[in-house]
Amino acid sequence: MLAFKLAPMALLAAFTAAHFTVPNDDQNMSGLVVNGIPYSTRVKYMRLANEALFSQSGPCPFAAYGTIIVNHTSDEIVCRGANFRTGDPTIHGEISAINACTAHFVSLNMTASEIFQAWGQLSIYTNAESCPMCASAIRWAGFKEYIYGTTIQHNYNVGWGVITMASYDVFQQSRQLPGFQTSMLGQILTNETDPLFSWQYNESYPCPNNCVRQYSETRGYTTCVDPNAK
Ligand SMILES: [Zn+2]
Repeated sequence: MLAFKLAPMALLAAFTAAHFTVPNDDQNMSGLVVNGIPYSTRVKYMRLANEALFSQSGPCPFAAYGTIIVNHTSDEIVCRGANFRTGDPTIHGEISAINACTAHFVSLNMTASEIFQAWGQLSIYTNAESCPMCASAIRWAGFKEYIYGTTIQHNYNVGWGVITMASYDVFQQSRQLPGFQTSMLGQILTNETDPLFSWQYNESYPCPNNCVRQYSETRGYTTCVDPNAK
């Protein structure tokens, strides 16, 4: 009888643990075509999300989160964002890019309803999987597509403080929102995005982009810095 009672609890525990297991996989996605867009284009824009980060925040910012918003119809970047560590805790790369696009659309004299319509035509590329706050914002906007690189699970594994909820779960719970549904493509170009997040809490991990290790007074250990900054 006791065993019978314990069984559902054990199952629940197993399910809960399994809920946040999104292992990095090594699927060959080179043949992936979603919404008519080939994988090579996904790679191109994920690289541009990284480059948008570097151009805004330098070659090895501690908060290495970069985002661009892309119009695939005209094949161009509409706006970009990064986590600028302004002190405002909501300004993650994704929110920063959404704010930049909103300001841009307002400057074009678009109405609020026109702006809401516009999100449904756009794709957001972010070099790391969005936290639940940003994944929710992406769903409230109703982006056409959400494409990310490094997973939350990866960043958790390498020492980042994260909210341990995958975008998959946010999307699953937001499918009844009115407005556009959002296609999600994860783990794009992780061989280039993962290293950007792997050095901050591991002193033996190499720095990206020819940055060098230097003792950080504030952190009490070495972090990567741009040797050309000063
Ligand atoms: Zn976020």
